[in-house]
Amino acid sequence: MTQFCGKTKICYGEDAMDALENLNATKAFIVTDEFMVKVGFVDRVKSHLDRNGIPHVVFADVESDPSLDTVIKGTRLFLENKADLIIALGGGSPIDAAKTITYFAHKASENPIKLTLVAIPTTSGTGSEVTSIAVVTDKQNEIKIPISDELLLPDVAILDARFTRTLPASVTAATGMDVLTHAIEAYTSREANVFTSIYAKYAIRYVFKYLFRAYNCGDDMEARENMLLGSCMAGMAFNNSGLGITHSIAHSIGGIFHVPHGLANAVILPHVIRFNSFDVGIRYQKIAQILSLPAATVEEGTASLIDAVCKMNSSMNIPNNIGALKIQESEFKAHLDTIAGNVLNDICTEGNPRRPSHSDIVDLLQQAW
Ligand SMILES: [Zn+2]
Repeated sequence: MTQFCGKTKICYGEDAMDALENLNATKAFIVTDEFMVKVGFVDRVKSHLDRNGIPHVVFADVESDPSLDTVIKGTRLFLENKADLIIALGGGSPIDAAKTITYFAHKASENPIKLTLVAIPTTSGTGSEVTSIAVVTDKQNEIKIPISDELLLPDVAILDARFTRTLPASVTAATGMDVLTHAIEAYTSREANVFTSIYAKYAIRYVFKYLFRAYNCGDDMEARENMLLGSCMAGMAFNNSGLGITHSIAHSIGGIFHVPHGLANAVILPHVIRFNSFDVGIRYQKIAQILSLPAATVEEGTASLIDAVCKMNSSMNIPNNIGALKIQESEFKAHLDTIAGNVLNDICTEGNPRRPSHSDIVDLLQQAW
């Protein structure tokens, strides 16, 4: 059986935040970070809730790559406050934290009440506002724990590009390459289907058309809006199709060496395309054709796509090899076996079109270095 599910109500455009005024709730719990409070974005959410007469509590302790400890602390506070609406405001980290809090709160209650989860992304990257996956970090053991459950799927996603306007160029670049990685991995996943492919294709087109514009000029609102839509489309695709080993490697490298998720994906993606090309070269050729790149043969299409991804990285000051990141070579070599082990156990590896062995991953990592 083939399935496609898109439960989240997506509100976008200038008045999208008005969606907060149509919600039925008795108390809101806002999950965010200190920066969102400082720049006044939390106040914008509060004013919509005030207009709807919904009291609110703010939990602004979410750090980047939220830890299990933070999520547990947030869950306690949430339960103490007896809220029935959770609003996530921020990048992937606050959204993943809010999703995990929703999940833990449900599991911790004997008679769980119906919670409404609203996600408001302030980066164009994770697509987390429409996925049933969240990643939390076990800081002691340096591992990222992906949680996958229908309970994590937001009820409402609010896409207002004005929240992304002030993102620094380097963050725009890394999060935008995360979108591209979601879309390409979704398009080539073992679980891809006709519906996921439609969303993935559109997201790929949007990234190639708008990412550099958003990077080059942060005030280009047409580019910002379309990157936010592209990010959401890629999320719709991979939530149904799964991803691949670019993500598995990025999860492990991110956990051990603290490389931001989008940056790790950007650097690894061209190497994984090469690795997978024997199995799904025809799909890479198709992507190259969509982008009007030279793609007369499968080999030419694959080579064109790798070249285009590398050029996109370079144009935004992102390297094309792991060795150019701030990682010691001896440290990296010492962790090769651990990373390969983590990759084989990662939830995303299931979707990868080529079934890798432990030594395949070690070879791939060495080539990517
Ligand atoms: Zn990602």
